[in-house]
Amino acid sequence: MISATPDIKALDLPGIESALAALGQPRFRVRQVVRWLYGRGVTGFDEMTDLPGVLRSQLAERYALGRLVLAAKEVSADGTRKYLWELADKTTIESVGIPAGDRLTVCFSTQAGCAMGCTFCATGQDGLTRSLLPGEMVDQVLGVAADMNSRVSNAVAMGQGEPFANYDATLAALRFMNSPDGPEIGARHLTVSTCGLLPGIRRFSAEPEQFTLAVSLHSAIQSTRDKLMPGVARYPLDQLREALAAYGVRTGRRPTLEFALVAGTNDSDVELKALIAFCRGMLCHVNLIPVNPVAGSGAHRPDDARVRAFALGLTSAGIECSIRTERGVDISAACGQLRQRHLS
Ligand code: SF4
Repeated sequence: MISATPDIKALDLPGIESALAALGQPRFRVRQVVRWLYGRGVTGFDEMTDLPGVLRSQLAERYALGRLVLAAKEVSADGTRKYLWELADKTTIESVGIPAGDRLTVCFSTQAGCAMGCTFCATGQDGLTRSLLPGEMVDQVLGVAADMNSRVSNAVAMGQGEPFANYDATLAALRFMNSPDGPEIGARHLTVSTCGLLPGIRRFSAEPEQFTLAVSLHSAIQSTRDKLMPGVARYPLDQLREALAAYGVRTGRRPTLEFALVAGTNDSDVELKALIAFCRGMLCHVNLIPVNPVAGSGAHRPDDARVRAFALGLTSAGIECSIRTERGVDISAACGQLRQRHLS
């Protein structure tokens, strides 16, 4: 049943501070509450045992405490785990846990569904259901950590949704993830991956934390990009380049350009040349991602030789690049695939 009271997971840190101040609580209670919510991940106010009983009752009267319920899980032979979570209103979202040596990266969703409509993406085919609350994002990280019995070293807003279409909640979630009272993931290990919403990139450039930026580029030719990513056709490539260059100058950090290689669509020499021209003279790192096949999308990955040739073309032009190691190819690891299967 959906609660009529607001969910405390909707609050950012200043929101929790105000809520506790309104109840006449001293400041140190803020850290206690955050620790219970995002350090220990409790599911009820009555578990917050170092708070006075009266305060626990007051919080329970005023707020719901939403939690994620695991609806499905798939485990890959390479250790990657894909999760489908059900939220309080029965909406479902996905996360992925990717272990590598002593690192565990969680790819979390910022929205249920997505309005951007990228043609190669299973989530984009279903449209937007709703944006997530900050706590619903942090809880994905906590849920994966608990399931994999491991500390999360990196978290990436690269699951379902466009993070900058849910900017404030995403930043609030990153701050809880970074907090010593939460999972305490280093700021540089917290990445936002956007499909290129310019107002978001500009705002992000001015944030005080050293969070990392990744942008889905997928083509440096306007007509190809518009076809692949109709949701950002209103932000022309020259303006995107300008915003990324300004980000580099302002922060001194290198944004990652994600480039999902789709056979016959953006893997030609003309595309490569345009990509080189886009990157030249700008701080950036290109991440080539041979696309995961999505049922019904008609998108296929190029063969390995073509992927390697593309990478070689970039490095020969002095552009830093890597080919993303495929993880979880035997499960529905690409964004939206597990949810799509579950709904069908
Ligand atoms: S790739 Fe990302 S931005 Fe594009 S439709 Fe999928 S979830 Fe949305």
